[in-house]
Amino acid sequence: MTRIHSLDRVLIAQIAAGEVIERPASALKELVENSIDAGARHIEISLIDGGISKIEVIDDGIGIYHEDLVLALTPHATSKISNLDDLESVASLGFRGEALASMASVASVTIITREQHASHGYRVQSRAGRMTEVIPAARSIGTSIVVDELFSETPARRKFLKSSNTEFAHCDEVLKRMALSHPEIEFRLNHNGKPLRHWPQATHQQRLKALFGEEFIKGALAVDEEAGGVRIEGWISRPTYSSSNRESQYVYVNGRFVRDKLISHALRQAYQDVLHHQRFPVVALFITCPFDLVDVNVHPAKTEVRFREPQTIHQLVFHGLSKILDKTNPGQSVDVSSSFTNTNNYAVLQNSLPIDSPRSTTNFSQFGFSQTIPSNSYRPSEGLDRNEEKIDTNNNHSYPLGFAIAQLHGIYILSQNDQGLIIVDMHAAHERILYEQLKLAIKNQIIQKQQLLIPVTFRVDPIALNLVYENQEILNQVGFELSVAGPDLLALRSVPVLLAKGDLEQIARDLIGELLQFGSSRLLDEKHNQLLSTFACHAAVRAHRQLTLTEMNALLRDMELIDRTDQCNHGRPTWRQVGLSEIDQWFLRGQ
Ligand code: ADP
Ligand code: MG
Repeated sequence: MTRIHSLDRVLIAQIAAGEVIERPASALKELVENSIDAGARHIEISLIDGGISKIEVIDDGIGIYHEDLVLALTPHATSKISNLDDLESVASLGFRGEALASMASVASVTIITREQHASHGYRVQSRAGRMTEVIPAARSIGTSIVVDELFSETPARRKFLKSSNTEFAHCDEVLKRMALSHPEIEFRLNHNGKPLRHWPQATHQQRLKALFGEEFIKGALAVDEEAGGVRIEGWISRPTYSSSNRESQYVYVNGRFVRDKLISHALRQAYQDVLHHQRFPVVALFITCPFDLVDVNVHPAKTEVRFREPQTIHQLVFHGLSKILDKTNPGQSVDVSSSFTNTNNYAVLQNSLPIDSPRSTTNFSQFGFSQTIPSNSYRPSEGLDRNEEKIDTNNNHSYPLGFAIAQLHGIYILSQNDQGLIIVDMHAAHERILYEQLKLAIKNQIIQKQQLLIPVTFRVDPIALNLVYENQEILNQVGFELSVAGPDLLALRSVPVLLAKGDLEQIARDLIGELLQFGSSRLLDEKHNQLLSTFACHAAVRAHRQLTLTEMNALLRDMELIDRTDQCNHGRPTWRQVGLSEIDQWFLRGQ
């Protein structure tokens, strides 16, 4: 074996570089972060071959003193912190003083800079640890940095790079992340000589629109929550606008884009009741907290953070978002896109949902849980008779879903409101209503039972039979009376009123399935939502069931009152508005 010896300076730097500079996109991130830290307002990026051949970043920041130029390229040299205390309150994106040095060890790096008080600029170049002299050069105030032939000095690493298109896509994404949190900066991105992106200086809302598109804004809900010195602002997608992957979650902590498991988990929990588990919400969330509550020095790439009070952050994200998502129903949700036009700062875009409107305080126990429901119908709400079905335009705004005019193919309810036509997916909407009512009834222990005139009997295996026998008491508590009617026969004698018109055998089997899988304790605890959601599905009005106008209107009124009815239990939309002006356009009216 060879003897122990110290590695040379360049090799040390090349090894360490691997942690910071993984691919062109990571170099680009470091360069743009430096420009942001330097107070730039205009940043122009030019890439060749996805950044593999060349990355150039030009900014109009404060520039670098020419005496410091050599230091800028030296490992562990930074202008951003001086001591341990500074490390606990880093406000800049950079602080480790290793990015430029790392790049210089694996590529050729050229810096041209003019410090804000200098009369002209300076230039220096470094390649594989060897630096040229600092020489005068022409430049306006600011800094240009060019990274040529990334990993030319470390060919093994270069082999790991993907096609230039893929590397470009990574660069594009990295830039998007930074552009989102810095709308005050203008960004330009060119690839192989072609201008591809241009985001002018903007408000937060305008930048969001430029990056996420019009569609996202249509589906966005504004967030502004604060607790214990931690503030969370931004936008989250309505459940009906979701993504198939986690990539579309943009979360920032004190201006720094982070990938954080704790926050992802809180997001997931907040959406669990309104979004299918394989879908992900799209979010742009900006968390600000006192610097000493978060440790940013966790990883060289600085995309991870550690919170001193993780629980506080989790609770704030979870509760803050749940509160907003609860209000996704036609009676309360408003189109936030209108808020985007005249607000200058995202910080002042308050959650504009009328959470305290008197309609939302209606007590659910009035909701006729004990009414007997004729089979094949929708339970009419109180106070709504056929006289009210004609449109009263003055009063119409209090009924956002308007009044039913017809049923389409036994699937959709057509309704007229002051904006035009509403189309409601009858089954999806009813399923959500039932689900919400069931959750509430169980929570408040107000489950009303309905005795069945003729018990529903069905065959089960001995294990299931025994289980039901042992758990009769607890089943009773959730509204089911199930008794043993023979050696392999069960009789269902009563069910919760809310489910009475459903497929009762199927519902009983769902219940037994749950018992077999999880035991009885879960029926009464918080984890029963999955089961309640299946119940709701099996009890909701089926397609091709003819509803009267009264029944249809009753369903519309319930949708307006009950939380989260904008989406079904799987996160699909339950209704859509078709505006009169849109219909006018179809027929070229008024043109
Ligand atoms: P860090 O950002 O962690 O300090 P870097 O290696 O990225 O380390 O940069 C080293 C130093 O070079 C920075 O501290 C900063 O003073 C200077 N610097 C780098 N890029 C720029 C720039 N675009 N404008 C002004 N100064 C810069
Ligand atoms: Mg830096």
